[in-house]
Amino acid sequence: MQKIRNWNAGGPVDSARALRLLDKTYPATGEVIAQIELADDQLLDETVRLAKSAQEKWAALSGQERGRIMARAGQRLIEANEELAALEVRDVGKLYSEAVSGDVPSGSEAFEFAAALAMTQSGTAHRWPGALGYTERVPLGVCAGIGAWNYPAQIACWKAAPALATGNAFILKPAEETPLVAARIAELLAEAGLPDGLFNVLYGDHELGAAICRHPGIAKISLTGGVETGKLILEQSAASLKKVTLELGGKAPLLVFADADFDLAVQTALDANFYTAGEVCSNATRVFVEQAILPDFLAALKERAEAMQVGDPMDPNSHLGALISAAHLQKVLDFVAIGKKEGARLICGGEQLFPPGFEGGHFMMPTIFADCHDQMRIVREEIFGPVMSVLSFDSEEEAIARANDSDFGLGAGLVTRDLARAHRVAAALKAGNIWVNSYNLIPPDWPFGGSGQSGFGRESSAFALESYTEVKATYIQL
Ligand code: NAD
Repeated sequence: MQKIRNWNAGGPVDSARALRLLDKTYPATGEVIAQIELADDQLLDETVRLAKSAQEKWAALSGQERGRIMARAGQRLIEANEELAALEVRDVGKLYSEAVSGDVPSGSEAFEFAAALAMTQSGTAHRWPGALGYTERVPLGVCAGIGAWNYPAQIACWKAAPALATGNAFILKPAEETPLVAARIAELLAEAGLPDGLFNVLYGDHELGAAICRHPGIAKISLTGGVETGKLILEQSAASLKKVTLELGGKAPLLVFADADFDLAVQTALDANFYTAGEVCSNATRVFVEQAILPDFLAALKERAEAMQVGDPMDPNSHLGALISAAHLQKVLDFVAIGKKEGARLICGGEQLFPPGFEGGHFMMPTIFADCHDQMRIVREEIFGPVMSVLSFDSEEEAIARANDSDFGLGAGLVTRDLARAHRVAAALKAGNIWVNSYNLIPPDWPFGGSGQSGFGRESSAFALESYTEVKATYIQL
C-alpha cells in the first residue's frame, strides 16, 4: 500500500524513528488507499530549523529571481493539472470535472499571480526637510498553513504562493483526510526548482496543528477550517504572538429578486449549494426568494435538483460526488432530521444514496427545504453538505436585514436585472465577498475572506501578499 511521507529539505522524510500511521480512505468507496506517516514534535522542530535556514537564503534573492522560480512552479502545476485533479478526487471524493476546472487551476494560478507580484513588489519613499525615509515589506520568516479537507489544492497554493513570493518559507499541514494532493504538489515544486526547505508538508491531526501554533520558530499561521478551530488557533498562537489569518465557516445568503433572469437565478441557487456536494464554506445556503416568484422557483429547483446524478466522481455525467466521510455524512443527515423536526418542508432529497459500484461511499441526494424561517437551526448553522434552505421575502429592506442577521460574514449574493438595486443591495450586505448574478467566482487577482465568525484576513490577490509580510520603515536624517 502507498505510504505518504512527510516532506522537508526538498524530499520525503525517511525517518529513523517509527512514526504513527493513519489510514487514508477514498470517500467514494470507503476503501483504505494509502497510509500516512504522521509527524511528531521532533520532526516539526527539525523542519522549522531547515525551513529557517532555507528562508534566509531565499529572502536574500531579488524579487525577480524568486518570481522566476515561482512562475516555473505555476507552469509545472498547470502541466500537472489533470494528474492533480485525479489525486484530488481520491482525496476528497469530489467530482473530477470540478477539480480539473476549478480547484486545481485556482492553485496554479495563485503561483502565477504571486510570481508577477514577487517581481514587482516595491515600497514607498518619503522626503522631509533634512530627512529621507523608505518603507519596504519584509518577510515574516517561517509561515504555516493548516488546511481543511474540501479544497486541498487551492488551500495549499493560496497559502504557500503568497508566502513564498514574499520571501518566506512555508510548512503545510493538510487536513488529515486529504494528504495526496499536497504530497504531489511538494514534488512538483521541487521539480520546478524551488530551493530545498522552502515548501514542507507535515501530516498530522489537531495535535500537530496545536504544536505548529505553539512553535516559537513559526511566525504566522493561516487556517482554513471551522469556527471553533479558529478560536483554538488564536489561543494556541497567543504565547508566541503569531500573526493569524482565519478562513472559517459561513452561512451565506442569496437574494433572488422577482426581476431576476429566472433561469440564471435557479441555476445560481443550485450551484451555490450543490457544488462540491455542498462542502464549500462560502456556499449560499440561505436562499431568500421574493414572494411573487416563490412557487415557480421552488418547482424549478425541485425539478433540476431531482435530475442531478449522484455517483462516481470520475464520471463526467455526475453532478455530485461523495461527502468526505461517513461521520460527516451522518452530521449532514442529522441536520435533515433537525430541519424536519423544526417544521421545514423537505421538497427533495434528504437521504443517503448507494450508487452501484460505490455502495461503501458517502453519497447523499441534493436536498432542499422550503418553508424555512430565520430562527431554525438549519438556517442558522453551517451544515457543510448538499442542503439548501429556501426562505421568502416581500421587500428589499426586509431581505437585506434578514440576510445580514447572521454571526457569519463570508459570502453573499444577489440575482437581479436592476442595476441600481444590484449596487444598493451589494453595499448593504455584510460579507467579505459579494457576488451579483454569479456566485463563488474568485479570479487570482481577487481577494477572498470573511468577517465576524467567518474569520479575518484575506487570501488570494495582492491582499494575501500583505499578510505574509510586515512593514519596515527606515528613517534617515541627512
Ligand atoms: P476543522 O476545523 O476540523 O479542521 C481544519 C484543520 O485544522 C485541519 O487540518 C485540522 O487538523 C486542524 N485542526 C483541528 N483542530 C486544531 C487545533 N486545535 N489546532 C490546530 N489545528 C487544528 O475543519 P474541517 O472539518 O477540515 O473543514 C470544514 C470547515 O472548514 C468548515 O467549517 C468550513 O466552513 C471551513 N472552511 C472554510 C473555508 C474558508 O475559506 N473560509 C474554506 C473551506 C472550509
